[in-house]
Amino acid sequence: MGSWQSREGTHSREQDGPPQTGAGWDPAPSELGECWDLGRGDQGGANLADPTRAPQRPVRLWALRHRLTKGRPAGRTGFWLHLVFLSWVRSDFARGSDEKSLGLKEQLWSEFSNVQMKETWGWRWILTIVPCAIQLHPRVAMTTAILERLSTLSVSGQHLRRLPKILEDGLPKMPGTVLETDVPQLFREPYIHAGYRPTGHEWRYYFFSLFQKHNEVVNVWTHLLAALAVLLRFWAFVEAEGLPWTSAHALPLLLYVLSSITYLTFSLLAHLLQSKSELSHYTFYFVDYVGVSVYQYGSALVHFFYTSDQAWYEHFWLFFLPAAAFCGWLSCAGCCYAKYRYRRPYPVMRKICQVVPAGLAFILDISPVAHRVVLCHLSGCQEQAVWYHSLQIVFFLVSAYFFSCPVPEKYFPGSCDIVGHGHQIFHAFLSVCTLSQLEAILLDYRGRQEIFLQRHSPLSIYMACLSFFFLVTCSAATAAFLRQKIKARLTKKDS
Ligand SMILES: [Zn+2]
Repeated sequence: MGSWQSREGTHSREQDGPPQTGAGWDPAPSELGECWDLGRGDQGGANLADPTRAPQRPVRLWALRHRLTKGRPAGRTGFWLHLVFLSWVRSDFARGSDEKSLGLKEQLWSEFSNVQMKETWGWRWILTIVPCAIQLHPRVAMTTAILERLSTLSVSGQHLRRLPKILEDGLPKMPGTVLETDVPQLFREPYIHAGYRPTGHEWRYYFFSLFQKHNEVVNVWTHLLAALAVLLRFWAFVEAEGLPWTSAHALPLLLYVLSSITYLTFSLLAHLLQSKSELSHYTFYFVDYVGVSVYQYGSALVHFFYTSDQAWYEHFWLFFLPAAAFCGWLSCAGCCYAKYRYRRPYPVMRKICQVVPAGLAFILDISPVAHRVVLCHLSGCQEQAVWYHSLQIVFFLVSAYFFSCPVPEKYFPGSCDIVGHGHQIFHAFLSVCTLSQLEAILLDYRGRQEIFLQRHSPLSIYMACLSFFFLVTCSAATAAFLRQKIKARLTKKDS
């Protein structure tokens, strides 16, 4: 059992937190700036200055809008905040308030509509209709309720800084992070001195550490957000284009999206959960390497079927996919073996075992893309898809640099512990690489269907896609085999 426990019963938010007034925000006059002066000298001023009164949501929204736009009326942010503000004023009017509040709101309405915003009549019309719709439409009213709920969060910079604390207070109490000297050597990263999560706690601690500040949290969030972005983008494409789910034509695309989500999910799980124990560390990184090999082969499939130029296809069609499958497996096996074989401080050989097979797989998988990019740029490239392919190559090369070199933490040891170390930059560039690749593949899928249908019979596509599952099986079996060996080694060490 871990040492962490529920905060309930040992901690009272009312006791520890700041005094709550109304919706939880007690703005100081200096924080509100000019907008605070609006209510002074009239009956609304007394209302604003009185902290025991009901919260003045419109005032707060106005303050937020004012702060974010620095008083400028123009800009999209200003517009939307203004819209939300007016919605609030309208809905508060509809609910019926006392005379004093109504006086203040009327003044705010007048100030905001006529003086602060110099919008055109078109905008003003929208700004009048939408708040009315908010009151009438139940679904939009729900949105208002959500906004109302959100308004209880602090809106100033000072209060936004408190957000991690609010989240932490809302979660069960968690152990703090520790220094590198407090964790086994296996978990230590070069030039990262602090922000390690302690080992040996319950699983839920590591799951909830998604919201904790530690040296892996950015690695987790980068791939979590990328996985969501891939899903949303693909879903938008399906909605717009319609996808023949049962057609052989769509199968490589589906496998590619599946492989992208798989590698991003396995990676984020590895970074989130690996700190539990030495066996977990090995297990989750082995799973991560399986995800990488699956993604490599998913990329090879779509590059082969949707992207390749005819001249390239005629030369390489016979052995490209078998070679890509072998390189994918080799990449997984090389990474797993290097993890199994070498211990910290790692020798150069470990990096070679990891980078050489992965580099070979990349060169092979990207060859149809590189061929098409070069040809296109030589003839004054006009194809949008080729520009996205060019971007995916550039982003991948940058990410590979940060994967191989501990930069910038090497030059600022201890300063990049939580944010800014090389692996996080690697994750960020790999994420945008995947998104560029997805965009290029979607364009190729839509724009090159004729070429695809001329070249490939449904049977050849099914065979190629079956090999995807064969690769998954081989990679998973290799990882499972090495995990067993690790488990035996750790058991022997403990006994
Ligand atoms: Zn990673």
